[in-house]
Amino acid sequence: MVDFQDDVAVVTGGTRGIGRAVATRLADGGATVIVTYHDDEEAAERTADLLAAYPTDTRVEQCDVTDFDEVAAVFETISDRYGSPTILINNAGTMENGLLVRMTPEQWQHVLDTNLSGAFYCTREAARLMLRNRGGRIVNVASVAAQRGWPGQVNYAASKAGLIGLTRAAARELGEKGIRVNAVAPGYTDTNLIENTTSYEDEVADRTASGRLATPDEIADVIAFLASDAASYVNGEVLRVDDGLLG
Ligand code: NDP
Repeated sequence: MVDFQDDVAVVTGGTRGIGRAVATRLADGGATVIVTYHDDEEAAERTADLLAAYPTDTRVEQCDVTDFDEVAAVFETISDRYGSPTILINNAGTMENGLLVRMTPEQWQHVLDTNLSGAFYCTREAARLMLRNRGGRIVNVASVAAQRGWPGQVNYAASKAGLIGLTRAAARELGEKGIRVNAVAPGYTDTNLIENTTSYEDEVADRTASGRLATPDEIADVIAFLASDAASYVNGEVLRVDDGLLG
């Protein structure tokens, strides 16, 4: 098991799906874990119960990542209580699919605000704290959609492509200060997010080696690797976790 004993980890959108799997991986390794969520109180309560079973300190905090003031306030709370976080997982994400010519500016903006601006706000606040310690690890949850560009997802694909750009630039800027910034690009993963996505089954069946969706744990394992010291020489990288979906 990877050792996260001395770590304070923040996982955005950590109450469901991939984020919850990451939070439990980090807690398994001994990390103090703070997960954030948006508005699903039931999922937040379930996750709080799950994390309460761990001997380390855990917290579940409501925070809309599209709101810079809320993000700043959460990181201030974290800083007051724990000092600097050592790990940030920018996982919170959303999807609002629609054909380009019918997509409203609101649909476009909401997805960009959540998936890209939200990650920037959290990275900004976390990095300011991590710089004091001259160390940290940030993992951004992108998507193969950034590279593949499925129809009906111009907003989602653009947000994830932007997140990859953010990852590479931040890695160059923060690397020499001891902060590594990497991304994962998962393929289709079995979570609520893809409930309303149509016609991916054939592609998954035909183009992945296993013929099935990823489990959240399979993505979480790779995120945990990038967040760990085992990846100490990995920086600015985007790791595809798609079982060959993109070939
Ligand atoms: P889920 O829908 O299961 O979970 C999304 C999480 O993000 C929830 O905890 C949700 O909180 C949170 N969230 C959404 N909007 C906001 C917001 N404005 N502020 C704060 N938190 C927010 O999705 P997944 O686990 O599937 O997705 C996790 C990440 O993985 C996303 O970035 C997604 O784009 C990416 N991804 C997913 C893939 C898939 O096939 N599932 C494939 C590739 C990438 P709440 O529950 O309170 O709303």
